Amino acid sequence: MKNTCRLCGYRTREIINLGSSPPANNFLDTETTNIDSFPLVLDFCDNCGGLQLRDCLDKEQLYSNYTYLTPDATSLTLHYENILEILLNNSFISPATDCLEIGSNNGRFLQFLKPHVKSVLGIDPARNVADFAKELGVETIVDFFSKSTVTKILNQKRDVGFIAARHMFAHNPRPDEIFEGIDSILNDNGVILIENQYAIETLKTGAFDQIYHEHMFYYSVTNMQNYLNSKNYDLNDIYFSDIHGGSIGFIGTRKDCYEVSDAVKKQLIIEKEYFEGDRIFKEFRNKVDEVKIKTLNEINSDYQGNKKIIAYGAPAKAFTMFSFLELDSTKIEYCVDTSITKIGKTFPQSNIPVISEDEMKQRDYQTVLVTAWNYRDDIIKKSKNLFKKNTKLVFPLTEFTTYIV
Ligand SMILES: [Zn+2]
Repeated sequence: MKNTCRLCGYRTREIINLGSSPPANNFLDTETTNIDSFPLVLDFCDNCGGLQLRDCLDKEQLYSNYTYLTPDATSLTLHYENILEILLNNSFISPATDCLEIGSNNGRFLQFLKPHVKSVLGIDPARNVADFAKELGVETIVDFFSKSTVTKILNQKRDVGFIAARHMFAHNPRPDEIFEGIDSILNDNGVILIENQYAIETLKTGAFDQIYHEHMFYYSVTNMQNYLNSKNYDLNDIYFSDIHGGSIGFIGTRKDCYEVSDAVKKQLIIEKEYFEGDRIFKEFRNKVDEVKIKTLNEINSDYQGNKKIIAYGAPAKAFTMFSFLELDSTKIEYCVDTSITKIGKTFPQSNIPVISEDEMKQRDYQTVLVTAWNYRDDIIKKSKNLFKKNTKLVFPLTEFTTYIV
């Protein structure tokens, strides 16, 4: 409902309006002009610190045709190693722990955890990605995390001591439903790990394209602590990561089970300063304007100079990038991606087709808008083998830069 915080029920106020976009990750098989778009408006709740999307779509609208596959990137492997270290060093998991991941996608994180714990189990609604998990040897329930799946898991009589909800907790308009499910499965001393993009990082970097319909909440430490406390849990620890353009891991347990780390206390003080006088929101709006102007200047001048422009990476955030910058197939001839679930499909509304790297190599282009800018280091490292010499790579975020191959 408009103006009502979906975490605490207080009144919210508008922070930014990014216009409208078709639901992210829903690629089409053919070109169309008539596709539904939905508003992307970000609201803030002064009571609980909840930053949230005003218009939420149902899960059927979002995930029926889901195409995201966790990539096999070096940066993700390092990220998993870091998480593992935190979990092991703080005894949050042990060889006796039964682990569960909600929204386990293709099972890569659980595959990583598996040698260090007693058991792993994944839950993911998308059959096409869950099939990959099974190939990796990760047992996966293909379903939404709902009352019936909770019952199914409880019937398995596992003593679940660790539940991960990575990049999914903010993807549901009713987080309480997920939390109640987690609470009923987790054992008394159990640990939950909620990982999401970090609201402060998104705002600070101006990464407006992290705002899309799947991301319904943008959690800060303040907000997550308020939320967990309202459920009689502590926020015990946090960690930061560069993945997905700036993420945070929140580690929580039932009240007074474990200590609250200095990192949490320190970050709460830092955040207080950011939110004071709306400083962080003003910075965000300025940065978004700047990124839009610089990126469009670059694209438009190359377009007028008869350069062929393509995009690299078809992640969910590319939907917001294309719609907010009003880029379509007249300027962006095609978008390159490695995911077999996307190649051959078309972005709705902008009608930008998705092609493979092999196909790109046989075509002509001079400028590449890197929509997967969060993999900047990986992309620059392989750029000489991937792109033609003298190609201009345009990274819109987190600092607008160009790079000549
Ligand atoms: Zn609230």
